[in-house]
Amino acid sequence: MENQQRKVFFFFVSHLLLLLRASKMVLCFCGNVVVVRTSWTSQNLGCCFYSCPKMGSKCGFLGWLEPPMCQRSIVIILGLLRTINSYEVEVG
Ligand SMILES: [Zn+2]
Repeated sequence: MENQQRKVFFFFVSHLLLLLRASKMVLCFCGNVVVVRTSWTSQNLGCCFYSCPKMGSKCGFLGWLEPPMCQRSIVIILGLLRTINSYEVEVG
């Protein structure tokens, strides 16, 4: 069980790293490297999107990285978040 949780945790981290790497190849309308933001609210859980790194600029660049997730994915992600939280408790 311990080993299984570790596998899930590293899968999740590697997925985040892939998202970060992908974001470096996208430029917004004002020529800046976009940032990937993830919505963790219950209605848009796990929705990743590109946006302009300049907060409040008129650039308005917005691109969805993934379509909104289905209910099943949300359940899986909530489980992953709980796993990560438990690791954080162990570490610090
Ligand atoms: Zn911009």
